[in-house]
Amino acid sequence: QFPFGRRLPCDIYWHGVSFHDNNIFSGQVNKFPGMMETVRKITLSRAMRTMQDLFPLEYNFYPRSWILPEELPLFVAEVRVMKDSDPSWKPTFIVKPDGGCQGDGIYLIKDPSDIRLTGSIQSRPAVVQEYICKPLLVDKLKFDIRLYVLLKSLEPLEIYIAKDGLSRFCTEPYQEPTLKNLHQVFMHLTNYSLNIHSENFIHSDSVNTGSKRTFSSILCRLSSRGADVKKLWSDIISLVIKTIIALTPELKVYYQSDIPAGKPGPTCFQILGFDILLMKNLKPMLLEVNANPSMRIEHEQELSPGVFENVPSPVDEEVKVAVIRDTLRLVDPQKKKRKD
Ligand code: ADP
Repeated sequence: QFPFGRRLPCDIYWHGVSFHDNNIFSGQVNKFPGMMETVRKITLSRAMRTMQDLFPLEYNFYPRSWILPEELPLFVAEVRVMKDSDPSWKPTFIVKPDGGCQGDGIYLIKDPSDIRLTGSIQSRPAVVQEYICKPLLVDKLKFDIRLYVLLKSLEPLEIYIAKDGLSRFCTEPYQEPTLKNLHQVFMHLTNYSLNIHSENFIHSDSVNTGSKRTFSSILCRLSSRGADVKKLWSDIISLVIKTIIALTPELKVYYQSDIPAGKPGPTCFQILGFDILLMKNLKPMLLEVNANPSMRIEHEQELSPGVFENVPSPVDEEVKVAVIRDTLRLVDPQKKKRKD
């Protein structure tokens, strides 16, 4: 650990937050310049919209989204047209503040007029998105998947997807959204940071029970129910590749400006966290991409009221240690030298 930088050059720099944590002229850095900006909710939505306009069928894995406040009139108008053409359509929308995380500031609405215009929205831009009402349930609970993706190189594009990930569960049985249950975060939002506060939260001591499980344990269960797990994986892989393709033009602009061709500079790689929701029909939908996914392998446990201790979390350990180990193997400078 070099909190104040290091004079001798390293083969690999593992930055905590961003590419710019240190000035580096050689070796490899675990962050791309501009990644944090590129995967923010609004920028991601814009990039996905561009691709949806060009290739609507290829990019139908991202919910229809509008950017607030600038697209509020468009949102209101488009919803009105869709409702007029199909009166049986009773949509729900989810409003997510830009730059928010851990479910912070998120709320559900039934109608565009329910957007909270006072205070927060003017000061804090947001994305409003069609809410996926029919997610796949396991044990009657909604869950999402966190997959780890290594972007090893932009040019040529090299992407690796970890074979296992996490499944994060809600802590109240799921019901389709109604005006009565819209506010029940433990039913609708799968964020670990929210559900940990529910009295129903179960810290897992094995990989296939509790409120956080491995994705492979879910796949096993789906497979035993007869689901086509191969097709699901292939859909997930194409979702990941297409999403990264959508982000590439902006990432290349940042890259060329921070590491101009011909000047000494490092090469970059980055582990991204993809949050994916499976629909009832097993179609994967992209929720968001995280530039700095948590790599914690412990969780806090309350020993007695107000007294907390960090204890190992077997599920996190199983998944995340493998992600970091395999990443280091893939970017191993000795291997690169041998290849050259
Ligand atoms: P944050 O960065 O705050 O976690 P997310 O976009 O991941 O924001 O949303 C938080 C949670 O809300 C997700 O984990 C998921 O459970 C739920 N969610 C988000 N978008 C949708 C959607 N379009 N349809 C259904 N559920 C959603």
